[in-house]
Amino acid sequence: MLNSERSLFPASLSQAESLPVYGHLIGNRWVASAQPPLAVVAPATGERFAWLARGGASEIDAAVAAARAALDGEWGRMTAADRGRLMLRFAQKVLDNVERLAWIEAHDTGKPISQARNDMRAVARYFEFYGGAADKVHGEVIPYLNGYNVTVVREPLGVTAHVTPWNYPAQMFGRSLAPALAMGNATVLKPAEEACLVCLEFGALAVEAGFPAGALNIVTGLGEEAGAPLSKHPDINFLSFTGSPEVGRLIQEAAAIHHVPVVLELGGKSPQVVFADADLEAAAATVCKAITQNTGQTCSAGSRVLVERPIFDKFMGMVASNFEKLRIGRPEDDTDLGPVINQTQQKRVLDFIEGAQRDGVPLIAQAKPDASLSGGYFVPPTVFGPVAADNAIVCQEIFGPVLAAQEFDSEDEAVALANGTEFGLVAGVWTRDGARQQRLAKRIVSGQVFVNCYGAGGGVELPFGGTKRSGHGREKGLMALEEVSTTKTVVNYHG
Ligand code: NAD
Repeated sequence: MLNSERSLFPASLSQAESLPVYGHLIGNRWVASAQPPLAVVAPATGERFAWLARGGASEIDAAVAAARAALDGEWGRMTAADRGRLMLRFAQKVLDNVERLAWIEAHDTGKPISQARNDMRAVARYFEFYGGAADKVHGEVIPYLNGYNVTVVREPLGVTAHVTPWNYPAQMFGRSLAPALAMGNATVLKPAEEACLVCLEFGALAVEAGFPAGALNIVTGLGEEAGAPLSKHPDINFLSFTGSPEVGRLIQEAAAIHHVPVVLELGGKSPQVVFADADLEAAAATVCKAITQNTGQTCSAGSRVLVERPIFDKFMGMVASNFEKLRIGRPEDDTDLGPVINQTQQKRVLDFIEGAQRDGVPLIAQAKPDASLSGGYFVPPTVFGPVAADNAIVCQEIFGPVLAAQEFDSEDEAVALANGTEFGLVAGVWTRDGARQQRLAKRIVSGQVFVNCYGAGGGVELPFGGTKRSGHGREKGLMALEEVSTTKTVVNYHG
């Protein structure tokens, strides 16, 4: 697992309380901060197990300068094919280290070890997909235009800044950085302070794989101290943010100062709409998984289920029996779900549950964590319903395993309820009626609509992103390459 001898622990900080200390990665060197490091706590036990460097404006300045220098140096001169090869080499290193990396991620986030292993494979897949695409982004020629030949080429934006959340630290690293690197940008990542050790481990593997200095920089620390100066930095050319709508607004305001383009991947309150003619067994199992995977701490969590009134009791009974079978435990127990990330998040989830109970919302199911787990930040996966449309658990993103069920009588009502929150990230539709599938897919306002399935984001090939308060811009898929590049039109007069 963690090895305090590794080079990424700056000598000046290492061995504090015999725990590993992770530094910043700036220009391929591991750097400590003057500020005392932040404690890293395992959510499953509440125990401190590592230290994290607490960076600020000066480390951000250094990282942006290193990225700028990389564009003028070896990284900027590298061919697209060589960039791709480097990314594939990195992907292989991740695959070679899945077990070690997965344990670090599982300790840091509390997620079951199998899910952490899947996250590592997903990171390798991001680098394979975009590494393979690096030399396939070609321009366009507009020929013979009254004596002019016009070439439109795609170029990197320059220094790209990436601010990411704690729920999937590894996957966010792959999703945000891989397309930017494939296009030849030099990157600066500010991952979430709550969980990001795996990102630094990836940084070490990137150096080993041969990424030139400055192509990939990582500065850790608090949002206000490290994220804010990065988002306001005058020398960045692009800003990718994944996180809460509140911070998303600050990021967009910061980016506006220097007219920097922004991709915002924010929260969700995603509905699944279940009609009476659906495969109810498949729908019930998927509804349960979509809100409990990663302990509900997923932007695309299916946190609402809308059920056609005549089957409400029967269907919610089926969902309840799926909830009753849920296994809750520590990462090493490899159960269905682990704890939430920290005490603040635990209190937030419990407050929503208590609030719904105070409001008299009927409780449909609740799976209690075992008493032996009391040291960790565990919460009981809970289903309420029917819930009124204006109740807090219907309107607000909880970011925990709490499902709100609502009833509907008609297709129009189902659409109105589905579109009834300020978010628009993901939706699920369950029906065997083909025409209705098409109508619902069109009428639901959302970045993704899954029919008779719920992919929680799907594979790397699928463009992913939100509408309304869930954000704008797209990650994943080939479309992501467009977000992290710009076009240049070259006009050549040939008479
Ligand atoms: P958050 O907004 O609190 O933090 C996200 C990142 O922003 C962290 O790195 C944090 O340090 C940084 N940050 C905080 N304040 C900042 C500031 N003033 N300036 C610059 N950076 C700052 O979000 P979180 O709690 O880490 O993550 C949960 C949220 O992320 C949820 O709303 C969830 O839906 C969303 N999310 C969305 C997606 C998506 O793809 N749409 C994916 C994962 C998570």
